[in-house]
Amino acid sequence: MTTTLTKSRFKLALECPRKLVYTVDNTYANAKSDDEFLEALADGGHQVGALAKLMYPGGIEVDALSIDEQVRQTEQLLKQENITLYEPTFRHGNLVVRVDVLVKRGLDIDLIEVKSKGFDAAAETFRATKKPIATEWEPYLYDVAYQTIVLQRAHPEWMIKPHLMLLDTSVCASIDGLGEKLLVVRNGRRVDVQVEEGFSPAILAQPLLRAHDVSSEVEHLRANPVESPGITMPFDEFVDHLAQSLASGKKLPPTPSNACKKCEFYCEPVQATESSRSGWAECMEAHFQRKITQPRSDTVFGLTNHRKVDKFISSNVLLMSELDEHNIGVNEEIGRISTTKRHLLQVQEARGEGDPIFLERETLSSEMVKWQFPLNFIDFETSRPALPFHFRNKPNDLLLFQFSHHILEADGRLRHASECLIAEPGTPPSMSVLRALRDALSENNGTVVHWWHHEKNVLKELRKQILDSAEENSESLLDFIDSMVDEGTGRLADLGTLVSKTGFFHGTNGRSSIKKVLPATLSRSDFLRERYGQPIYGTADMPSLNFPAGWIWIREENGQVVDPYKLLDPIFLDPVLNQAIECRETRR
Ligand code: SF4
Repeated sequence: MTTTLTKSRFKLALECPRKLVYTVDNTYANAKSDDEFLEALADGGHQVGALAKLMYPGGIEVDALSIDEQVRQTEQLLKQENITLYEPTFRHGNLVVRVDVLVKRGLDIDLIEVKSKGFDAAAETFRATKKPIATEWEPYLYDVAYQTIVLQRAHPEWMIKPHLMLLDTSVCASIDGLGEKLLVVRNGRRVDVQVEEGFSPAILAQPLLRAHDVSSEVEHLRANPVESPGITMPFDEFVDHLAQSLASGKKLPPTPSNACKKCEFYCEPVQATESSRSGWAECMEAHFQRKITQPRSDTVFGLTNHRKVDKFISSNVLLMSELDEHNIGVNEEIGRISTTKRHLLQVQEARGEGDPIFLERETLSSEMVKWQFPLNFIDFETSRPALPFHFRNKPNDLLLFQFSHHILEADGRLRHASECLIAEPGTPPSMSVLRALRDALSENNGTVVHWWHHEKNVLKELRKQILDSAEENSESLLDFIDSMVDEGTGRLADLGTLVSKTGFFHGTNGRSSIKKVLPATLSRSDFLRERYGQPIYGTADMPSLNFPAGWIWIREENGQVVDPYKLLDPIFLDPVLNQAIECRETRR
């Protein structure tokens, strides 16, 4: 059977044509298959798709199982003069597309691609100042352009108007509980949306989804060359080139570039098997003409935030250990680890050189000495549902639904002081959680420590939400947020950013996420090993709100400290979700 060029394959080929070789062969590992499943659940794509169909009522779902049957069913239905179809399938040669919604009025066709991405037509555009199409919108518009070409070839008589249907971020939900009206029902990896009986989008004062005519953007893309790694050619030729290579089984050659850093067709060498092969390793072997047994993190692709990896590749350098100070070109910055200094430290680690912990101690201590005890450690959990579940919320509005709060006294006493979790369907959580946080932090005047920008950004965004809304008694909340985030006088201290400027730890792949830094620090600090190797957590000496008495944080296996995150219970009761999350975390 001829291998088809579907729209998801076309999108992959835009990132790198070689990916087609791996995506059609299921013996290659694909790290994104779990991500796509999780992202589709997280970004509300299923609910948005269901809402879009409801906005074109009276349509017929093309529901045949195989592609051939879907094409037959579609063409049969299209014999009607006027019809609306959900997910019709079109084929021309080995080009195949499944359209989200298609409206046919005689020969006039509206092609509608639905995305759970926000757009405010009054404030945004698909165009950019320095290039005709904004980079952010290119993948979406190329997707629509590809569908347009297939429909046009399958039905040259049609007048096709392509649209992108997007969430309107300028519109507030006029009802509560939209999420429950479009209920996600999951069975393993199969996801359906159950629409509440009698629900119609007409009850919304303003539509949350809006279709945008993208004819001119599609025309522009089709009139100009496509630039993908190793190939630059006119759009229609590019499509044919990909289709022919799939039809003939000809393998497109790899063209290693910066894109290989995040290529999903990768697995760690120790995990590679005959049924889970690393496409990345095969690309490198083909390009460098030698056997590659090292993990990607040990190569130039592992250099954090390095934008000139192409330069090393063209000099035939793959392994980090093959680099030196001269190749890196270090820019020293007094008192802080510059990006290039971090690269050098990574290279030294790869060569078996350098100290396992490198600290800019003076900068670190001069910042920490400003902190006021007791120290409050906070951590937020948030979500950004595509559809606004609560009255007056907008699409993609931030929800703060949980915080945890630990207090460290000057004498070293530590306690899990407070927490708040609101995850009841139908209950808007943000303001209640914010009030609980304000109350918790008003018990002392100590510094409030967080890791990286998330907590600060969340507070700033909630401030904006309060100002935009008619939240009652909001003054004290605004005062509280200001007392946290004000530059200079605010109580927040970003430990993650401080560590990234001042610390480098072997075993972290040069990264400064807490999930990397914590295990590396635990395994190297005698003080921490002594303290947290005891059954101390959850006792009267170190109270916890959610761990049993005597929990031991530092445990060793084969002489190595076990990553403390691996000691935690699974996040969900559902094994499918936990497995997907575990796979994703392993790759990070
Ligand atoms: S490793 Fe690089 S060249 Fe190979 S498929 Fe991935 S992105 Fe393309």
